[in-house]
Amino acid sequence: MIFGKYINRYYFRYGPMLLLGLVALVAVDTLQLVIPNLYQRIVNGINQGYVMVDGVQKPFDGTFLLEEICMPMVGIILAIVLGRFLWRVMFFGAGIRVEESLRNRMFDNAKDLSREYYQVNKVGNLMSLFTNDLDTVQECFGWGVMMFFDALLLGVLAVFKMWRMNPVLTLLSMIPMGFLLAAATVLGKYMMKKWDIRQAAFSKLSDFSQESFSGIAVIKAFVKEAKELLAFQKINEENEKANIAHTRASVLMRIFTTLFVESVVCIILGFGGYLVYQGTFNAGQLVEFIGYFNAVVWPIMAVSELIDMTSRGKASLNRISELLDAKQSVQDAPGAKDLGSMRGEIEFRDLSFRYPDGEYDALQHVSFKIRAGESVGIVGKTGSGKTTLVQLILRCYNVPDGTLFLDGHDVNEVTIHSLRSGCAYVPQDNFLFSDTIENNIAFGVDTFDREGVVNAAVLSDVDGNIREFRHGYDTVLGERGVTVSGGQKQRISIARALMKNAPVLILDDSVSAVDTHTEKTILENLAATRQGKTTILIAHRISTVEAMDQILFLDDGRLAAAGKHETLYETCAEYRKMVDLQKLEEEGEKHA
Ligand code: ADP
Repeated sequence: MIFGKYINRYYFRYGPMLLLGLVALVAVDTLQLVIPNLYQRIVNGINQGYVMVDGVQKPFDGTFLLEEICMPMVGIILAIVLGRFLWRVMFFGAGIRVEESLRNRMFDNAKDLSREYYQVNKVGNLMSLFTNDLDTVQECFGWGVMMFFDALLLGVLAVFKMWRMNPVLTLLSMIPMGFLLAAATVLGKYMMKKWDIRQAAFSKLSDFSQESFSGIAVIKAFVKEAKELLAFQKINEENEKANIAHTRASVLMRIFTTLFVESVVCIILGFGGYLVYQGTFNAGQLVEFIGYFNAVVWPIMAVSELIDMTSRGKASLNRISELLDAKQSVQDAPGAKDLGSMRGEIEFRDLSFRYPDGEYDALQHVSFKIRAGESVGIVGKTGSGKTTLVQLILRCYNVPDGTLFLDGHDVNEVTIHSLRSGCAYVPQDNFLFSDTIENNIAFGVDTFDREGVVNAAVLSDVDGNIREFRHGYDTVLGERGVTVSGGQKQRISIARALMKNAPVLILDDSVSAVDTHTEKTILENLAATRQGKTTILIAHRISTVEAMDQILFLDDGRLAAAGKHETLYETCAEYRKMVDLQKLEEEGEKHA
């Protein structure tokens, strides 16, 4: 059984189920303890030829065997089977429901966490929370509750029956149990630590595997399979060591338990035998006493199992709680309002921005205004702050008040949902889901038809490629869209953004993997379809953004210049240098 702020409520929610399971458990345990008395009757019946039942002497014959032993035994067994089935369904059913509910809560919180969280917590680690840790908590809730009550009930009932037969023998039997409890308490704490280490090692292994499989193309291209294997083996070995350490503690616990149980058997046989010799006990009573002790063995085993399970469950629940406690660093300010229908005017006012873990400002005193419906190109060297700038428009990070405005509203005063709903974004990595091409393109809209999807694909010049696939728009893409080329991936991502037809469209270096002819087609289509809507395009080649209404030229986090291409070429020496350099490179490429 484990407790914690994220699990306690389930004991109430599934209280009726647990209670029903408990009733079945009580019935099973009570019936189980009738069996040793039947053994006593048989042994005494064989020895003496008669049996004492509730103070009445009855002959040990066929009728007695049938009516007082066989028939009750059959009834007891049937009732036990039924009862066990019922409590299993109730306890495990509750455990599975808890798992499902917790998983939903975890996903619900995880989906709202900002990029900062995902930069620190890798996918593999998160996956192990959703699989291994959740499994452990489920097991603890289902099995744990059952074991706790079963051990308690059966233990108390059996000890009570033993006590009624002979208090001295019962006390003697309990001495080793005291030692066992002490050992279990110490080992329990130790095992919890080891389980924590084990789970951390497993997370590391998941992280590494996940990253290796995602980056398999790079590994192969650099012929680094052997290096990767060695690294994997090392992490796997750490995982193995952590596993062994936990298993060792767990096995030690079992050995202790067995040792103490066996020593009790020795005590019962020794002292019990002496009692029979003395005449205090008869043979049947000794067998009955051993029968009760056998019933106590399971609770004792259960206690050690329970300690192991609880320590694992606690460690896993702590890890899960960390995810559930993780705060959304980017969220709506109190009283934030919906933006309503967006016009697409964006203004930066002396905005400086540093990443939460950054050591310097990625953007410094940036001020500019994009009028609604403008097409804007952002250029600058790698690392100059282009992506940062558009990510701030999308509110991926927090910005100071009074520095960024959308349609005249401070972004901190509008809801993130309404802001992002008004924007369509083509990220640099062009992530595609393992789904059909059609569903990928229509990802950003709630209702769609094939015609709309095809139209978006035509505009991003990928329709022809899609039709060449055997299943056309119904082609299912592999994980991260590995079955399409980089250029096709880029264009499907553009189609996805175009399909949304949002007031603001942001393309982050989205035509870098397409040839100049395709780029020209896409840009012409964009110019035609985005009339009156704001379009922001980050590009490396100046030629890509030359014709745009405004160009923002970033240099080392500062806005070095803003304006039309011709004006910038005339007035900004740095910009001119970059344009001339690119022209030279292009000419060089043509002659090569
Ligand atoms: P560009 O898009 O122009 O190539 P970026 O906007 O990606 O440049 O990056 C601007 C600066 O911010 C770089 O120095 C980069 O290292 C830094 N940076 C980018 N992303 C992060 C991040 N998540 N955390 C910390 N620093 C970052």
